[in-house]
Amino acid sequence: MTQDFESLASCVMCLVSFEKTESSMPNPKRQHSKQRGRKRRTHQGVVLPKMQPCSHCGKQVISHRVCPFCGHYKKNVVVTVEAKEKKAKD
Ligand SMILES: [Zn+2]
Repeated sequence: MTQDFESLASCVMCLVSFEKTESSMPNPKRQHSKQRGRKRRTHQGVVLPKMQPCSHCGKQVISHRVCPFCGHYKKNVVVTVEAKEKKAKD
């Protein structure tokens, strides 16, 4: 009987120690939904657009776009900026 008790006690101690180690581990309390994980990962794909100095004024401009400051594209005037400003005021 004593042996059985000892083995049982050791088994209980083993379980207690196992529970302790398991509870000390950082585990999530609840399961995350698919939506939650996917929402979090939407921000991983956001990247700043490629910027290059304008060929005319030298300001940083999104590449392959007309310069919003001087209206130049590939060293040619494409858009007059004054007209743009008038549109902005209206
Ligand atoms: Zn420019």
